[in-house]
Amino acid sequence: MMLQSPSEIDIVRAAASKINSVDFDNLSFGNTFTDHMLICDYKEGKWQKPIIKPYEPFLIDPSAKVFHYGQAIFEGMKAYKDENNDVWLFRPDQNLDRFNKSAVRMAMPEVPEDIFIGGLKTIVDLERDWVKKGIGNTLYIRPFMIAIGSGVIAQPSTQYRFMIILSPARSYYSGEVKVIIAEHYSRAANGGIGAAKAAGNYSAQFYPQKLAQEQGFQQIIWTDDATHTKLEEAGTMNVFFRINDTLYTAPTSERILDGVTRKSLIDLAKREGIKVEERSVLVDELVAAAKDGSLKEIFGAGTAAVVNPIVGFQYKEHYYELPKLESSYALELKDKLTKIQYKQAEDTFGWTV
Ligand code: PMP
Repeated sequence: MMLQSPSEIDIVRAAASKINSVDFDNLSFGNTFTDHMLICDYKEGKWQKPIIKPYEPFLIDPSAKVFHYGQAIFEGMKAYKDENNDVWLFRPDQNLDRFNKSAVRMAMPEVPEDIFIGGLKTIVDLERDWVKKGIGNTLYIRPFMIAIGSGVIAQPSTQYRFMIILSPARSYYSGEVKVIIAEHYSRAANGGIGAAKAAGNYSAQFYPQKLAQEQGFQQIIWTDDATHTKLEEAGTMNVFFRINDTLYTAPTSERILDGVTRKSLIDLAKREGIKVEERSVLVDELVAAAKDGSLKEIFGAGTAAVVNPIVGFQYKEHYYELPKLESSYALELKDKLTKIQYKQAEDTFGWTV
């Protein structure tokens, strides 16, 4: 692949690093940012030269399309440091591919590989001291694109800004996760933007999420918008169900995000001899499996938490608790995936870069 060399990206270094003022043992997720950010603007039909410069606020016209029509997309990925102090990305090609699918769906320009992957490598390399060693320490990477063209007419912008910002993160224990199955609200619809990492998909979840939290549930299991009978995603994660010894997860579709963790767990589970079926699990099926004891596990899968085990679910005023297991697929797969990411196990799939 053709990669942008650092010489093709202008770098303006921060006068001093903030790193010594950061308490890496007590990071709250997504609130601390590194010294630099990458910016690349699109105008007159062309991507301009990327620049890496000190992290700081910037000005945009109040009429910019992003504020009015929500042309905004993003990605979420991580860098990991191994015991030799080498820094690794996990399947960045998958994030680039998904980012550009999101861009097409939102009528935004695709970002070329040399800017996305080349920019990523250059800025992560520059900030490598912010990636700490040891399982659980990561550098969360947030590439995003917004429409910066001005004018409140409802049409796609002609100017865009692609950026990468970086935030050191520590994995945390989120406590017991109880979920409620959506009976009214939907995350996505056929023909909609559910498969895109578009900002509006996330703001639209905040209100139902708030209602769920008021009822004592940390997350919502989204169901299909048309019938609310098929289980689709858990909060902002893909979701897996273990019934007896088979793992089920919904197939990707226009309504479901094509998660990098999801597809990696499927490949890992198959390699470990676990049976995986990519098909929609029905709510009725889940309730029946919970009642007869064949439902063993439910877990969310995503970059932030890798795997997020769920302890029980609520459906139609009834709470179903999951059994406590001696050996769980969720934790076994999380361990295997994490070891690949930190180069503590052989990466037979060639996922680390
Ligand atoms: N579904 C949704 C809606 C998400 O926002 C995410 C997080 N990107 C995922 C699933 C998980 O995707 P990934 O494994 O690529 O982080």
